[in-house]
Amino acid sequence: MIRVCILGATGSIGVSTLDVIKQHAHQFKVVALTANQDVERLFQQCVEFLPSYAVMADAAAAEQLAARLAHFDEITVLSGVEGLKHVASLPEVDTVMAAIVGGAGLLPTLAAAQAGKRVLLANKEALVMSGQLFLDAVHQHGAQLLPIDSEHNAIFQCMPASFTQHGVKNLTAVGVSRILLTASGGPFRNYPLEQLGSVTPEQACNHPKWKMGRKISVDSATMMNKGLEVIEACWLFNTPPERIEVLIHPQSVIHSMVEYVDGSTLAQLGNPDMRTPIAHALAFPERMTSGVARLNLLEIAKLEFEPMDFARFPCLRLAYEAMQAGGTTTAILNAANEIAVEAFLAGKLRFTAIAELIEQTLSRLNGRAANTLEIILEDDTRARQLAEELLTTL
Ligand code: NAD
Ligand code: MG
Repeated sequence: MIRVCILGATGSIGVSTLDVIKQHAHQFKVVALTANQDVERLFQQCVEFLPSYAVMADAAAAEQLAARLAHFDEITVLSGVEGLKHVASLPEVDTVMAAIVGGAGLLPTLAAAQAGKRVLLANKEALVMSGQLFLDAVHQHGAQLLPIDSEHNAIFQCMPASFTQHGVKNLTAVGVSRILLTASGGPFRNYPLEQLGSVTPEQACNHPKWKMGRKISVDSATMMNKGLEVIEACWLFNTPPERIEVLIHPQSVIHSMVEYVDGSTLAQLGNPDMRTPIAHALAFPERMTSGVARLNLLEIAKLEFEPMDFARFPCLRLAYEAMQAGGTTTAILNAANEIAVEAFLAGKLRFTAIAELIEQTLSRLNGRAANTLEIILEDDTRARQLAEELLTTL
């Protein structure tokens, strides 16, 4: 029996995780479920999965949930970041699905690593912010990090066993020359450039291949999602950004590839459905069904590739540059992006001003060595404050 805590249970990844778990109910026990404010959905999930703990980040929402669950004596309701950290590190939890969106996921995800859990990482922002510090926590506390992001899960599946199972973390030593990260191109791949400034949040969230939360949907439209993924891949696979090439692949069937020195390129293919990487990581190193339909290659018929268009997608360039700069620069990039996306979704910022706001924040704030959590959180806060100020000028 694998005992699971799901951080961000009510979101797109959280719901898909529960769907996979439900298909293998005899193998998994849901110990804790968490959400931010969505009382109704977390309540429904609690009734169905009967966890020992339910946590709402928002204190008022936690009170409402506790009232709704008054007759469920076996469920303890907690609140706030402390509640999230508590359930992420419970001794009775083996596996933590880290599926909170944004920097809000950092502390609970880090707590899971520090408690030596198997961490299923969807919350890429946590790793983008804390990089080496997060990996050090994983190593020091004997945790295990398995990627859920479809691209990184694909790369992981294409790595040799010496890498995935025996902890050899040197790509050159295992004959890998490059990582090819695929991108669908999002909703604006062919959209007239001069009209990008006036696209709406609804258009940006209408992803051609994936159904996801709103923040990552906007990130996919600006290509910042791919930028965050380049940074995520650098940390997960111990590789410099120059060794990662982003390719546009509109069908979203190949989820990424690993190129070896002998001329072999390995790819992982599948329908675009997050239940595949989720089931892969939940069952690792074994395999189990996910509910995803088998791939029909005859129906797909064609797999196409295009070079990345950095002029159309300046956010990707900013992410590469931030990774090259190192230290807290990636945390600053992430923080400015979160403020920009929130403002865009609220109708307060043009789509094309998202990249402008991030670039201006980065040019005004210098990153520094990301030696401690305090430094990272301080620069995250400074970047958010500065981006909020700059918002009014754009
Ligand atoms: P979502 O918006 O659908 O869900 C986010 C979850 O986090 C919800 O349960 C919400 O209640 C919780 N949450 C939000 N703010 C919080 C806060 N301040 N404190 C505590 N909890 C909070 O997002 P999603 O699409 O499921 O994405 C989750 C993470 O997974 C993101 O980091 C995203 O980049 C990554 N990811 C998602 C997909 C996908 O297909 N959806 C694919 C790859 C990676
Ligand atoms: Mg992805």
